[in-house]
Amino acid sequence: MQNDPRTHGLWERSAPPAPVTAPLAGEVAVDVAVVGAGFTGLSAALHLAEAGAKVAVLEGVEIGYGGSGRNVGLVNAGLWIMPDELPRLLGATHGQRLLDLLGDAPSAVFDLVERHGIACEAVRRGTLHCAVGRGGLDELRERVRQWRARGAPVHLLGAEETARRTGTTGYAGSLLDERAGTIQPLAYARGLAAAAIAAGAAIHTASPVVAVSDEGAAWRLRTPGGTVRAAWVIVATNAYTSAVWPEVRSELVHLPYFNLATQPLGEDLARSILPERQGAWDTREVLSSFRLDRQGRLVFGSVGALRGSGRAIHRDWGRRALAKLFPQLRGVAFETEWYGQIGMTADHAPRFHRLGRQVVSFSGYNGRGIAPGTVFGRCLAQLLLGSLPESGLPLPVSDPMPARHRAAKELYYEAGAQLAHLAGARF
Ligand SMILES: Cc1cc2nc3c(=O)[nH]c(=O)nc-3n(C[C@H](O)[C@H](O)[C@H](O)COP(=O)(O)OP(=O)(O)OC[C@H]3O[C@@H](n4cnc5c(N)ncnc54)[C@H](O)[C@@H]3O)c2cc1C
Repeated sequence: MQNDPRTHGLWERSAPPAPVTAPLAGEVAVDVAVVGAGFTGLSAALHLAEAGAKVAVLEGVEIGYGGSGRNVGLVNAGLWIMPDELPRLLGATHGQRLLDLLGDAPSAVFDLVERHGIACEAVRRGTLHCAVGRGGLDELRERVRQWRARGAPVHLLGAEETARRTGTTGYAGSLLDERAGTIQPLAYARGLAAAAIAAGAAIHTASPVVAVSDEGAAWRLRTPGGTVRAAWVIVATNAYTSAVWPEVRSELVHLPYFNLATQPLGEDLARSILPERQGAWDTREVLSSFRLDRQGRLVFGSVGALRGSGRAIHRDWGRRALAKLFPQLRGVAFETEWYGQIGMTADHAPRFHRLGRQVVSFSGYNGRGIAPGTVFGRCLAQLLLGSLPESGLPLPVSDPMPARHRAAKELYYEAGAQLAHLAGARF
């Protein structure tokens, strides 16, 4: 993508081609303009177009250019925050509504994949959140207790069972969440885009919105090649926001995250790791994640940016950490590498904003955006179609609040990840 192999790495290599799109040219009028072609914007566009609305998606670069094309592909239920924390944070009504919506959100993803025949390596066999030491196990035990009190199919597995399911003895236990699964994320984004186009939406790539004005009866959005007039605007630019509605970006602290993918491991080695093909990550603060793709490549990730000194540090760490977790992979080379920016909010909860008259936005997914982005996009479509009142949304409306000490925190995350990986022994 954009001739930079470190933006989308393996996903760019193995995804089916994107649907054919072109930059916006001239002037068009639509009911809804969607800014940003990630999961949020594409899901909104698909659901709006299916209901008969005239929609134009304006994407600054390419479909899935932001977090949607770069992530690990773990289709998780819920958020990072503990379930009991949400009602405390958002109030009983919104907290419960968000828990219900996000607890069931992986189903929305896998249903869309099936309904639209999206070829994105979808596997729904759960995810494993792996415990590091006694502290990690205590955290997972509490998470299991809170989810099970809500009837969710999550299970605490002991060390032996975790070793059987992961192929490593490195963990004290794990949380198996049956609701979850994995996808090839760029392929999912491209599939959503194709479905939206088939339903009648127009998607314009290489079309960054560079200026917006409220003309009273409609919004006018300007790109280098043309303008769109729209009654409603959905801002789905999230952590990759550029140029317009900068308050969306100002509220988020970027946390970098990278992935390294091996060559296909071959049948015997691939069978020795995650034999049931769950996706996995651990309870460390500077966490690691691992999963296999359909060709048997191991995708191994952690916090950090593959730029400057970080490139060599994180690569070296990746080799050491992988060999420690899976000694059978010692000497296996990484074939591709890529990284992206996760948008973190101060309290780790997502946001719903009204950014202007008939301008709405969801953002701040804190590294949980595949299933949430899909269902939040659907909520925005329902809101605009009038089938969901604003009072029925899963989040209260809030004003964007600039993150305090944002630049310092971003530096801290990037440099801190390098230090943690240099220290290495703890990986
Ligand atoms: C490395 C990494 C790993 C992750 N792992 C996981 C995971 O395993 N599971 C999970 O659930 N989540 C994960 N996430 C989070 C998830 O990927 C994101 O939360 C999600 O993709 C956000 O989707 P979105 O549509 O809201 O935004 P994005 O996908 O970021 O899309 C925003 C789009 O807006 C466009 N844009 C910005 N400004 C303009 C403009 N002015 N005009 C036009 N277009 C514009 C951008 O080019 C971009 O394509 C991860 C994120 C990263 C970066």
